Amino acid sequence: MTTADVPAPRPRLLTGDRPTAPLHIGHYAGSLRIRVALQREYETFVLIADVQALTDHFEQPKKVRDNVLEVMLDYLAVGLDPAHVSFVLQSQVPELAELTVYFLNLVTVSHLRQNPTVKTEIVQKGYGEAVPAGFFVYPVSQAADITAFGATLVPVGDDQLPMIEQTREIVRRFGHLYAPILVEPQAVVGRVPRLPGLDGRAKMSKSLGNAIFLSDGADEVRRKVMGMYTDPLHVRAADPGTVKGNPVFAYLDAFDPDGAGVQALKDHYTRGGLGDMTVKRHLVDVLEDVLAPIRERRAESAADPASVWAILRAGTQRGQEVVAQTMHAVRGAMNLTSLEAAGNGPRGWAPSYPAEPD
Ligand code: ATP
Ligand code: MG
Repeated sequence: MTTADVPAPRPRLLTGDRPTAPLHIGHYAGSLRIRVALQREYETFVLIADVQALTDHFEQPKKVRDNVLEVMLDYLAVGLDPAHVSFVLQSQVPELAELTVYFLNLVTVSHLRQNPTVKTEIVQKGYGEAVPAGFFVYPVSQAADITAFGATLVPVGDDQLPMIEQTREIVRRFGHLYAPILVEPQAVVGRVPRLPGLDGRAKMSKSLGNAIFLSDGADEVRRKVMGMYTDPLHVRAADPGTVKGNPVFAYLDAFDPDGAGVQALKDHYTRGGLGDMTVKRHLVDVLEDVLAPIRERRAESAADPASVWAILRAGTQRGQEVVAQTMHAVRGAMNLTSLEAAGNGPRGWAPSYPAEPD
């Protein structure tokens, strides 16, 4: 194969999720909704990042494995369509790990230490200096994922922006050192860059126990909403309340299609005279409108897991093809000799990409 066989990059979109738990309404608001809206416009790859999940779940491989199917069910339930989307299981594309190793040479430990998202997560997980090396470098593995698929667009929540910036830096460095064959991706952050948790913490997260899952039943959603954090100083309905930092209103902003109605509720709450329970009951109805059809579609796919695995198998195969093409060019650019080609060419081997002038 020569470089002429490598197709010119088409607009591709890549996103991913770690199969550490089923997906939640923060994923829906921050990323899934945008993926659904863009899936026809871009060649879309959705990576189930089981290898990355192991970086902080290496003691629970079965949990990771079990959540692969859960996450697939969530994808299909929100309307990601296998006709447009390739769902790829990361561990089954080992070249992603290979590319990670090459990229690790292009970053420094001190630069990785500055990544604000990883910094926060290291504190949240209580790692301190005992942070597993694999976890510490996961932004580099994300850079490998994004570039291996040649993605131009990456829709993410705002916690991922430093990872995209890191990816762009690595691509530039790679281009400068070897050959300009990798695509510099753009992040796209939606209208809801970060949905707060039920407990009022800045981010709803699978691992913080503050999430409403797309798979939660109606009763569970009601129970979680009714127990949500609100303004702690808003004791009686008659008291004026604070909207800012109040996750109940953040969820209404994210999911209630009636923006004027939400504004009226905020004004009333701020003036005083609107009880938390009244607002929460409204939020339950709003969420139910979003979640009921998702729940129904999820149950349909869950009844036929063999078909779901088949969709993942087909998507992974497509992913393997695309990544193989990128890696062919990468190895050539890095002068990593293919033994298949050894014996040909003037120096005893034929580089697949002319990286270095003699
Ligand atoms: P974990 O706690 O295991 O890291 P997570 O909830 O952070 O789980 P990820 O699988 O790490 O989920 O993230 C997948 C994608 O969803 C990322 O693009 C991330 O930015 C986005 N995302 C996750 N949580 C939220 C949220 N609360 N609001 C908006 N986007 C989110
Ligand atoms: Mg995360």
